[in-house]
Amino acid sequence: MELTRRQEIMTMLREGEWTLDELAMNFVVSKKVIIDDLEHIARSVPRPSRLQIHPPTCEVCGYRFKDRAKYNDPSRCPMCKNEHLRSQRFQIV
Ligand SMILES: [Zn+2]
Repeated sequence: MELTRRQEIMTMLREGEWTLDELAMNFVVSKKVIIDDLEHIARSVPRPSRLQIHPPTCEVCGYRFKDRAKYNDPSRCPMCKNEHLRSQRFQIV
């Protein structure tokens, strides 16, 4: 069952970009569960593909997050402290 969800997530991520919230909503599980899945997927994606995290850009000051290795969304902008950031998006490329 768990394997099936991870396989489904991998298929979705190959076809497009998704946020943590969207994935959690789609599978009706907590974000924590999706984070566990993403950690597993990141290790098991066959090379040369990889799980890419598209970080958000702060709409207030334009700050661009550097490549992130964290699956949970950044809570606020480190430059201007804006807390209304868009979610980061995941994709297998
Ligand atoms: Zn900012």
